[in-house]
Amino acid sequence: HASSVYNFAAGPGVMPREVLLEAQRELLDCRRSGMSILEMPFTGAEFQNIADQARRDLRELLELPPHYHVLFLPGGASTQFSLLPMNLLPPDGRADYVDTGHWSRKAIAEARRYVSVNVAASGAQHGYSRLPCRRYWQLDPQAGYCHITSNETADGLAYHRLPDTRGVPLVADMTSDFLSRPLDVERFGVIYAGAQKNVGPAGLTLVIIRDDLLQTAWPACPAALSYRVQIDSDNRFNTPPIQAIYLAGLVFRWLRSQGGLKAMAARNRRKSEALYSYIDASDFYACDRQVADRSRMNVCFHLAVPTLTAEFVEQARCQGLLNLQGHPAVGGLRASLYNAMSEAGVDALIAFMETFAARHG
Ligand code: PMP
Repeated sequence: HASSVYNFAAGPGVMPREVLLEAQRELLDCRRSGMSILEMPFTGAEFQNIADQARRDLRELLELPPHYHVLFLPGGASTQFSLLPMNLLPPDGRADYVDTGHWSRKAIAEARRYVSVNVAASGAQHGYSRLPCRRYWQLDPQAGYCHITSNETADGLAYHRLPDTRGVPLVADMTSDFLSRPLDVERFGVIYAGAQKNVGPAGLTLVIIRDDLLQTAWPACPAALSYRVQIDSDNRFNTPPIQAIYLAGLVFRWLRSQGGLKAMAARNRRKSEALYSYIDASDFYACDRQVADRSRMNVCFHLAVPTLTAEFVEQARCQGLLNLQGHPAVGGLRASLYNAMSEAGVDALIAFMETFAARHG
């Protein structure tokens, strides 16, 4: 993590340096307990304080109303693709899904194993270069929820306005834009996010669920992954991923010290606008995503001369600009600009792009 290196990985992605340093300082003796976080019993007061603080800080960042529960679950966001139907719907249930790209397709494929899925709209006919217009969505009046992917990590698209689902609870995969901007939480029934982008530790998933949607999960649902069971046991039905929760807590603290989600949103907007404006003004680089739907987290673009892509990625790496290759399913280039990416990092990337274009243009 040399200070001259900028990591543009899509996830796991860059962490705040202050957080890494604090975790390092505390590794052998966490909060003067005499124990490493790795050694703490999860039922003890020391870890309870850490988990309670993390939960309080997250609630405060999101201004979470009391009728929303927060769960720290193991398994990654893909695990939730299967758990959503089993926790939210009856076995003969139905759900709407909006297909906006790679990650919504994964969510759809998994949900189909359990319930009847209506794909209410798809961006496929536009090559996933924009979000399907809300006017043409065909919602199932009997759907128990409507699932969206608020930010498509591989395709570089994001919702900048929330769709009206006519009273059907909105369920959002926010893995790649969670905590990147303020949220109107009351618009959602369930929000879930794998932690490895803006929160940090891979394998931890945050699930935020509105109280009235809690029901007994299907008998086939593992008890440890039942929202109801975990909420009823205060997220201590079994050993939680305690080091990941500790690290997430450090990130929540860091976010509060940086001015919270409004400050993050302003900075994320500046970073992405600087990069998109440079790309749009250039003949050498291009982004074909519709301007109104572009992601502020994952800037997907390509070279006018695609045969230079590998050379671009390699030369950037030599300059300390890491992991700029696009998602393998999409190709091209991608710069992920999560909360912990500094404006100096974006400036360094643009400077490199200018030099590369001048040399090859
Ligand atoms: N949803 C989105 C939007 C993602 O970006 C990812 C991971 N890149 C996932 C789901 C899957 O997350 P995990 O690997 O934690 O299962």
